[in-house]
Amino acid sequence: MVRSFVLGFIRIHILYHATEKPFYGSWMMKELENHGYELSPGTLYPILNDLEESGYLESCERVVEGKKRKYYRATEEGKRKLEELRPKVRELVNEVLEGESD
Ligand SMILES: [Zn+2]
Repeated sequence: MVRSFVLGFIRIHILYHATEKPFYGSWMMKELENHGYELSPGTLYPILNDLEESGYLESCERVVEGKKRKYYRATEEGKRKLEELRPKVRELVNEVLEGESD
């Protein structure tokens, strides 16, 4: 139950970073860890695949310092989706955090 809430946050987080700059899987794993989310590759990669299959992310392989890496970035549709989610996130955060001070 708790997990299903957290996975929603993580998906929005991934989409947000994908609109900022291309990233690869282990970078995202570190980034999420910095935010306090411990994610295994077995959880992260299916989410990335799903976002890609849904048309929100696109990937390409690049060789960086001799390592082949799959980079992900947001598609136009992904950017639109984030814009659509932004006010919802703001409203939710405002309501939840305001409720906290009551
Ligand atoms: Zn972040």
